Amino acid sequence: MRILLVEDELGMAKALTAALARHDILVDHVSTLAMAAEAVLSGVHAAVILDRKLPDGDGLSLIPVLRRSQVGLPIIVLSALGTPDDRVAGLDNGADDYLAKPFSVDELLARIRAVMRRPTLVEDQIVSVGKLRFNLNERAAVIGEEPLTLTRRELLALELLVRRSGRTVARAALEEAVYGFDDEIASNTLDAHISRLRRKIAPANVEIHGIRGVGYLLRAIQ
Ligand code: CA
Repeated sequence: MRILLVEDELGMAKALTAALARHDILVDHVSTLAMAAEAVLSGVHAAVILDRKLPDGDGLSLIPVLRRSQVGLPIIVLSALGTPDDRVAGLDNGADDYLAKPFSVDELLARIRAVMRRPTLVEDQIVSVGKLRFNLNERAAVIGEEPLTLTRRELLALELLVRRSGRTVARAALEEAVYGFDDEIASNTLDAHISRLRRKIAPANVEIHGIRGVGYLLRAIQ
């Protein structure tokens, strides 16, 4: 799972990123409303953790922007503003949950699991390409009845290719989906992930077609 963290306290952001990584959650960290509005356009995040007091305004003002770019995107507000009135304001502005600082990582993880379980999100969205079936809610793939075992980065790449199957996905978009904003990317590592992914999904009669200098396209082999 990949989430967007909007937080201007760097110490807090670092600690959270490390703590969530131990639970296989990849965190993209941004520190302003403007950066968050742009980051969410990538469409790769399963949830947003949003601070309130940010350098360019109240995090709550970002909620409508987030909702417009991705319907149903779970949003957890994390704030030092923790009075009942503050919480009500957060929830009334459309946050799915509101956690007052200080909080424990375990509690945050529980809240993340809870918002991901909301009924509007559990309706299975399954995309089929060839014999490959990708469940967008569970973020798992099967070929026929066989579960497909993928590394985290292979899964992130396949998810984006599946969401846009039959269309070319730009290399930059794939790199953005597969790597965190702070990851160093060697120029050929994306290709290495794609070649391993190709071998794994070949039995599904699908191919990842590379278009030199442009990107990749997932399609069924006729
Ligand atoms: Ca803050």
